[in-house]
Amino acid sequence: MAFKKLDIIQPILSALSTEGYTTPTPIQQQSIPIILDRKDLLGCAQTGTGKTAAFAIPILQILYTQKHVSKGIAVLILTPTRELAIQIGESFEAYGRHTNISHTVIFGGVSQMHQVNALKRGVDILIATPGRLLDLMDQGFIDLRHLEIFVLDEADRMLDMGFIHDVKKVITKIPAKRQTLFFSATMPSEIQSLADSLLTNPEKVSVTPPSSTVDAIDQSLYYVNKNDKPSLLLYLLKNPAIVTALVFTRTKHGADKVVKILQKEDITAAAIHGNKSQNARQLALNNFKDGKLRVLVATDIAARGIDIDELTHVFNFDLPNVPETYVHRIGRTGRAGNTGISISFCDVEERGELKDIIKVIGKQIPIVAEHPFASKVVTTMPFTGSKPQPQSFQRQGGYHSRDRGGKSGYGQQRSGSR
Ligand code: AMP
Repeated sequence: MAFKKLDIIQPILSALSTEGYTTPTPIQQQSIPIILDRKDLLGCAQTGTGKTAAFAIPILQILYTQKHVSKGIAVLILTPTRELAIQIGESFEAYGRHTNISHTVIFGGVSQMHQVNALKRGVDILIATPGRLLDLMDQGFIDLRHLEIFVLDEADRMLDMGFIHDVKKVITKIPAKRQTLFFSATMPSEIQSLADSLLTNPEKVSVTPPSSTVDAIDQSLYYVNKNDKPSLLLYLLKNPAIVTALVFTRTKHGADKVVKILQKEDITAAAIHGNKSQNARQLALNNFKDGKLRVLVATDIAARGIDIDELTHVFNFDLPNVPETYVHRIGRTGRAGNTGISISFCDVEERGELKDIIKVIGKQIPIVAEHPFASKVVTTMPFTGSKPQPQSFQRQGGYHSRDRGGKSGYGQQRSGSR
């Protein structure tokens, strides 16, 4: 199936071809016709499935084909994090480069001046996080009277992050007559009732449960004493096949410490976490995406929504307390049809976390027993039932060939997942 079969117009088709997209992903195949039909949509899909393009492409097409004469903001996209907001903005930029449809992104943590100036110039599409949106609405800079399409992105994360009240407040301020597109990775009851209150006769679309993401990723586990974790990381990073690595630590302090150790060994690295300013976080992320940094060290909150094409390795320097977070973390690699590699460290205090993770992913993580920092204490503990398997550093470090066949295989890769 090609994008052309979805009746996508030429200016967007040529932008997609520049992006290297040949085949729509399952969420795109299902959602694009519904949205172009101007129906409400309930999409159960997580980041990594191509859901941004699933709404961005038809929205651009609707505005373009109705020869949108700007009366004001026609589309509002609400998303929980700054990083996601920026990435959605980049998607509109990329797919809409031949359309003349304007957009802007607003989020908190930075000065509002540039955002207000952009709003004053007039935009068709506004991408916003809830707090800054309400703030600028209260100040009278945002007029949503002409809104036609409302997108609520990552609704369940809005709930997790405590933004649901803000979201509900925004909803009271937008026109009742509109098209609504509602996306959430999971559907807890509070989210389901929010969806029910927002959507009119919605079409439902659902794709890719998290476990299939996990299956596509080459996972390994290293037992190591806590104090040896930095040395093990340095040892593994000697492998030049690790082009980019996202390293997760449990604490902000831990992230800073790892960065210092890496920099001392001339490995380009930066940390992103809640104590860093938004500008510092964005700079680190851009440098990482541009290949100027080899390693990005992050805490879970700061890494929410980070989407990096071609990310080769994820390291769990510390195992997460919440087992589902393991799935989210390693899901940062193995995007768009590529195989990803995840390497986890486990010290003696983390065996409980490991046990929970194994339960959630439903399988053992292969253990790399032979390495210079192997912890005898941890490996002898019989808590996982998994036998350590000697595996060479080369294989687990990523020397084995990776599918670099581009993004065209994406549709096939996920095709089993309705
Ligand atoms: P998302 O779920 O929106 O975060 O998208 C995940 C990744 O898939 C992004 O890096 C997109 O650039 C990429 N992507 C989206 N649609 C396609 C497509 N049809 N073909 C290949 N890659 C895609």
